[in-house]
Amino acid sequence: MEYEAVIGLETHVQLKTKSKMWCGCANAFGAPPNSNVCPVCLGLPGVLPVANEEALRLTVLTGFLLNCEIPARAKFDRKNYFYPDMPKNYQITQYDQPSTTNGCVDFEFSGAGVSPATGRDARSTIARVRITRAHLEEDVGKSFHFERNSGVDFNRAGVPLMEIVSEPDITSADMAYEYLNALKDILVYGGVSDCDMEKGMVRCDVNVSVRPVGSKELGAKIEIKNMNSFSGVRRALEYEIPRQIEVLKKGGKLIQSTRRWDDEAGVTEEMRTKEHAHDYRYFPEPDLMPFEPTDRWLAEIKSRVVELPLARKQRLMREYGLPASDAQTFVWDVPLGNYFEGMVKKSKNPKAVANWVINNLRAKLSESSSRREEARTSGLDKRESQSLLTSAATGMTLADLKFKPEALLELVILVEAKTISSSAAQQVFAEMFETGKSPAAIVQEKGLAQVSDMAAIEKFCDEAIAANPGPANDFKSGKTAALNFLKGQVMKLSKGKANPALVGEILERKLKG
Ligand SMILES: [Zn+2]
Repeated sequence: MEYEAVIGLETHVQLKTKSKMWCGCANAFGAPPNSNVCPVCLGLPGVLPVANEEALRLTVLTGFLLNCEIPARAKFDRKNYFYPDMPKNYQITQYDQPSTTNGCVDFEFSGAGVSPATGRDARSTIARVRITRAHLEEDVGKSFHFERNSGVDFNRAGVPLMEIVSEPDITSADMAYEYLNALKDILVYGGVSDCDMEKGMVRCDVNVSVRPVGSKELGAKIEIKNMNSFSGVRRALEYEIPRQIEVLKKGGKLIQSTRRWDDEAGVTEEMRTKEHAHDYRYFPEPDLMPFEPTDRWLAEIKSRVVELPLARKQRLMREYGLPASDAQTFVWDVPLGNYFEGMVKKSKNPKAVANWVINNLRAKLSESSSRREEARTSGLDKRESQSLLTSAATGMTLADLKFKPEALLELVILVEAKTISSSAAQQVFAEMFETGKSPAAIVQEKGLAQVSDMAAIEKFCDEAIAANPGPANDFKSGKTAALNFLKGQVMKLSKGKANPALVGEILERKLKG
């Protein structure tokens, strides 16, 4: 019998707010333990929570970005359980009336076994995962276990946390991985969260079951808790799906349970079964009013909706005829994409502009960054490294460029019009990057304009043929490759300035004539 996996994900994302969810403490990573705390987030008796409005806005904004419905009324509830890193002994969350419901995420995915980011065609491979809800809650503190004792840091307690629950539409480990990346890209694009995995800003619970192919019934739901990396989710599923199938194939029975992923050993282990599941005794939070968004408030949030990564990629391909790989580069590097779009509208050749921006400008910028990084980490003495830092730092980001986008466009046009050769263009670009001078000025100054003057080129051709009778005869007797040699000689005589196309034409005419 063949089996299939059914996977749903609950993704927890820390929201990008200045302060915590119910108090004025800073929402900041990396502060000394228990320095961003107050009576509210420490759950001391007699305190009252005040909802962070920006967190409410970001949740609704997420709803818009994920194509959700925004219910007319939302409320907060208490989820009761005891845990040492949760000072109130309950978490404020949204139980039966969340801020957003019924959405979806569309992303590129063309089936199991396909490795990500291989420049697939965006138009033909779109998968959809439905979103049950995205609701707002609060994060808990963090426990640390030392050799002889344990400690708790409450800096994270009360940080706004959004939970995005998917429908069980995911069918493989790879699909889960691509969905999570797409979701992350959307949230980062929308300014909802920085989604920094290293800082634990995104965590994930995985629900996975298996069933015979064609069966409508769901198998026993097994939850893998507290995953903190997307690749971990993929590996856990690559382990867990075959494990469940194996149990069933051997005639065994799976029961609803919670497991944990041991990243080092690469296995999942049972934590508790259904009998020991928590009863959270949800009830409405008495200290917070239900929330009814006004049309005006919603309209203001709607104005913050941005073009999503996939839509941007498809539009760049459609509007400018870019290949998928170029469009993807501009999706991942938003400032570079904006830079490209700012200048391409004035150009007749978007592909040429994209080539210059990606292959030259971006390469040069990253070269500068890595030089700076090198200077930072290498054993250079202070002065040396300082001068390297200063010179390299000038080209660090697009904002630091010494030339305007129009200047780069001018350079592209000079190449298009064959005023300069492509090798001369590289020289001009390097000079622009260093000095900020205009391409026209550099071409003039360095005498880089191609010679298209027929008489001048004819003279160079005559000289090259006279000086190289061997290759000239080779060409005449049918060895066409000899033409390239002669062309090279003419280019040399003209100091690289002759128009190569014209040189080829004239040489051929002279040799054949
Ligand atoms: Zn606080």
